[in-house]
Amino acid sequence: MNLNDAVELAGGDILVADVPPCLPLDTFESARGSLEFLEGISGPLHEGLTSRPTHIRVVQSSSIVCSTRRLSDESHLVVVPLGLIVRLRLLAGLMLRHWQQQHIYLYAEHAVGRTKKKCPPLLVSLFDHYRNDESYWPLASDLEARIPDIAYLESDIKELIHLALVNVVGHELGHVVRKHANARRLFRAGCGDTARVAMFERMLEYDADVVSASWSIFTLELQLQVANQVDRLPLASLRMGYALTLLYALYDATVRNYEAYAESRYMHPLVRRHLFVEVTHANLREGNIEWWRVYAPNELRGWVEAALALNDLAFECGAGKWGDVGTDPRDYIPLSALHYNTSEVAVHQSHFDAEFARYSTFLDDYEKIMGEEPRLRFNWPPV
Ligand SMILES: [Zn+2]
Repeated sequence: MNLNDAVELAGGDILVADVPPCLPLDTFESARGSLEFLEGISGPLHEGLTSRPTHIRVVQSSSIVCSTRRLSDESHLVVVPLGLIVRLRLLAGLMLRHWQQQHIYLYAEHAVGRTKKKCPPLLVSLFDHYRNDESYWPLASDLEARIPDIAYLESDIKELIHLALVNVVGHELGHVVRKHANARRLFRAGCGDTARVAMFERMLEYDADVVSASWSIFTLELQLQVANQVDRLPLASLRMGYALTLLYALYDATVRNYEAYAESRYMHPLVRRHLFVEVTHANLREGNIEWWRVYAPNELRGWVEAALALNDLAFECGAGKWGDVGTDPRDYIPLSALHYNTSEVAVHQSHFDAEFARYSTFLDDYEKIMGEEPRLRFNWPPV
C-alpha cells in the first residue's frame, strides 16, 4: 500500500473545513506543525535501523488510538487521529483551570480490587467514546462549550499537546525502529505457549515506551538548544511531567488497579510513568548531568500538579458538576491511577520491579530471535 492510500484508509487528510469547532484552528495547526517537526527530526533514531524514513500524519478520525503501518516502499506511516488532539485539548483545559488552586484531597485506592469505573455523562467525549464515528464531534463540542474561559490557557495547552504528541509518536517510532512486527511474527512462530506469547506482546509495548522516553528527552534537548532557550529548561521539564500525566489519564478511563492492568496490553500508568522517569534520568545523567539536576525536580512537580488537577476534577465529578453520578461518586472516573497515595509507595515499587524483571526476560528472548539487537542511539537499559 502506498502512502496516500494508507492515509486515506486511516481516515484521510484534514482540510481546514474539517477542523471541528471544539478545536481552535491555530491549536490544530500548532499540533500538525509538531508532527511535521517530529517527522523531520526522526532521522537520528532511524539511522542504520530502517532503510526508509517514517511519515507522520494527523488523520480525520475521532478515535484515540495512534497506529503504525508498513508501506510498500518499506517506509512506515504513523497516524495520529484528530480525536486524540481534541481530547488532549479538552482535558488540558479542564485540568489547567485548577493550577495553583486550593485542593481537597480524595483518597484513591488502586492497589487492590477490580472496580470498573463509570463515566460522568458530560465527560463521555473524554473517557467513554472511542469509536471513530460522526457522533463523537457534537459531544466534544458540547463539553468544550461547558468549559468557560480557557482562551487564556491556549498557549500552555499547545505546549502540553506538543509534549504529549512527542511521547505518543515516540512510542510508535519505537515499534518501527525495534522492528516489533518482525519480532512478534518470529516469536509466535517459535513458541506454542499462548501465555508466553501474550507476555512477549505486552513487553513490546513496554519496549516501545523505553524508546519513547529516550526520544522525549532527546527532543527536549534538541528543541531548547536549537531555539537557544536553555533558560526555559525548568518550565519545559515541568510541562513534560504534566503532559505525560495528562496523556496517561486519557488512556486510563475505566480501570485503575494493578490486577486489571496485568491482563492488559499496557502497563499500569504508574509503572509507565516510573519507567519514563528511569529512562529519562538515565539518559540525562549519562549525557548532561547539569540538565538532570534541573530536570528531575521540575518533572516531578509537573506530575504532582497534574495529579492534583485530576484529583480536583474527580472532586467536581463527585459534586455532580459533570452530570449525575448517583450515590457513590467513588465509582466514577476521572480519579485516575495517576493519583498516587504515598502510603502505597512499596506496593507501586514492587509492581514496577516485577514488570522490569519480565522486561529483562523479554530482552533475552528478543535478542535470541532477532540476532544482533538493533542498536539505538540511546543507552538504556544499562546492561
Ligand atoms: Zn504500542
